[in-house]
Formats: sequence, structure tokens, C-alpha cells
Amino acid sequence: CIRDSYYITIIFKKKRSMIYPIVLYGDTVLREKCTEIKMGDLDIKSLVNDMFETMTDADGIGLAAPQIGISKKLFVVDGSSLEDEEMSSFKKVFINPVLNNEDGDLWEFEEGCLSIPNIRGGVKRKSSIEITFFDENWNKKKEVFKGMQARVIQHEYDHIQGKLFVDYLSPLKKKLIKNKLSEISKGNCEVRYKVKRS
Ligand code: ZN
Repeated sequence: CIRDSYYITIIFKKKRSMIYPIVLYGDTVLREKCTEIKMGDLDIKSLVNDMFETMTDADGIGLAAPQIGISKKLFVVDGSSLEDEEMSSFKKVFINPVLNNEDGDLWEFEEGCLSIPNIRGGVKRKSSIEITFFDENWNKKKEVFKGMQARVIQHEYDHIQGKLFVDYLSPLKKKLIKNKLSEISKGNCEVRYKVKRS
């Protein structure tokens, strides 16, 4: 009967997560310093679910809230799509993170970003970090991460500070990608995932 199907629709809608369009380079939200989240401020569980879904849909391994237009100190990481042993079990939520310390040797790696499609560039980062954060259940954690895990966190942590990986590139590389970046900021780029074109 109609009543039953109405009821079922409501339950279905409540459970379904949502894929957000990803904000592109040039949008001012990517340059803002994000604000802290207060407990109960927003529906963190459903937001986190949506972020995981958005990231997976775009084949990303990290996604920060400003990348979906929300200027809050929150990011998620999920390396389960990677074959790498260290990364495949790396799935976490970081709420109000504070990077306490970066340590170890600088190492360079070609980074990319869902908000800056089709551009990659070598970024030097320190190999070990200590970070304090809350998980999705508001448990406070203090953990040390190394290598690629540390790098993904450093990249996402930069996002909530309004910083992007292209900021680290050499003046020459910056010159080479200048036009591409300007096209992206106009929404002119080929991507197979959903993006917000201004
Ligand atoms: Zn990024």
C-alpha cells in the first residue's frame, strides 16, 4: 500500500549518503583557514560518510572539508584502494587536528589533488609527524604517522590551513602550470568525477 512505500522511501533517504561536487582550484574556500568543529555542531557521522563516498567516487585517498565547500577542520583518508600494504588499512577521520611535530628527513613525491585535476608536482615533506585529533566518535587521539601515511595527512592538513600542494612547487614549475591553473579556476578541465564549476 502507499503508506508502506512512503515509509520505506523515508528510511532509504535517511540512510543514503551523498556525493558532493568537488571544489576546484580558484575557489576562495580552498584558501580559507578552517574553523574548529564543536561537538553537536553538525551531523558529523553523515558528513563523514558523504566525504568517504565523495572521495571513493573520485578515486581519491584523502579529502578535506573545504574541498566540498565546508570551511571546517575535518578531513578523511582512505588508502584501501591501494595495493600498498602500509596504505590499504589506512582509513581514518580527523576532526580538529593539530599537527604537533614534523620530524625526519625531507623526501620528495609527486602529489596530486582532487581540486587541481591533471596536475602533479614534486613536494618535499618531512617523513614523520605527530598529530592530535578527534575521531568520528569524538575520542581524542595522539598518534605518530610515517612515510606515505604522514604525507597524505600533511597534504590534507594543509587544506584546512588554506594551503595547496602547488604552493610548494619551484618557481619554474609554477610558471609551467600557470595557464593550466587559470583554466581550472574557470572550470575548464576534464574530470570524470563531479566538480563544482564556477
Ligand atoms: Zn588536495
